[in-house]
Amino acid sequence: MFSPLTGRSVIVTGASKGIGRGIALRFGQAGCPVLVVSRNEMEARAVVDEILAAGGEARAFAADVTQPAQMEAMAAAALAAFGHLDILCANAGIFPAAKLGAMTAADFDAVIGTNLKGTFLAVSACLPAMKAQRFGRIILTSSITGPVTGFPGWSHYAASKAGQLGFMRTAAIELATSGITVNAVLPGNILTEGLTAMGADYIRQMEASVPMRRIGTVADVANAALFFASIEAGYITGQSLVIDGGQILPESLAALDP
Ligand code: NAP
Repeated sequence: MFSPLTGRSVIVTGASKGIGRGIALRFGQAGCPVLVVSRNEMEARAVVDEILAAGGEARAFAADVTQPAQMEAMAAAALAAFGHLDILCANAGIFPAAKLGAMTAADFDAVIGTNLKGTFLAVSACLPAMKAQRFGRIILTSSITGPVTGFPGWSHYAASKAGQLGFMRTAAIELATSGITVNAVLPGNILTEGLTAMGADYIRQMEASVPMRRIGTVADVANAALFFASIEAGYITGQSLVIDGGQILPESLAALDP
């Protein structure tokens, strides 16, 4: 039995939709006050309304993870609203596809700037409060793409997601004596608005490539994030957890042949 997380405050970046929304709803259900962050405040407010309707506590905050001042304002808003800042889910990410040859330097910078530098900026902004209270749980949303697998069109994205793990390992060492853990969830293909936009054919192909024969849900990822946030996970740092229904396991298509 895990200790309740009731009252532990959470910031979730990229929480207006997709995996971030799922994480925010899950922490809300667990009794954590949640700061729901995205650039679009109206969309963040809709998630706040869902958390409130389910009996939880939440506030919306509009911020861009690529902007250091906005990340500092985000951490300050969590402190002002909840009195402490216990958990950060650095989840905001973008995944525009472009194959090498067509990919521009600006495309590359945009993806690295949001997914990797944005992770650094969100974490940096939350550290002073976490260090002062000598407690923190930082959970990064990486991906199987980059750390484990590749996918055409996503070399910049893959680099950003693998980069998050490099960042995580060193951050985990630096913060190990401060009561702060840093871990990462590595989702496979998860049914989100972003994935739905890639079309029914893409989703069917992905389902066929997963041993469990289903795309993951945002709740599958949120439960893993909740585990890393738990008191009982306090001796785990610098680690990553794949949530993919076994997708990375088959060594060839023959392994999936019934
Ligand atoms: P999504 O549905 O497109 O949602 C992305 C979220 O990030 C939105 O809330 C968006 O809101 C926010 N966002 C984007 N850029 C931002 C910025 N600069 N500053 C602040 N917020 C920003 O994406 P998703 O599929 O849930 O992906 C979420 C994370 O999971 C990403 O890190 C992604 O790499 C990772 N992931 C997803 C999958 C999958 O299958 N879906 C698989 C592996 C990993 P605004 O646009 O309003 O800011």
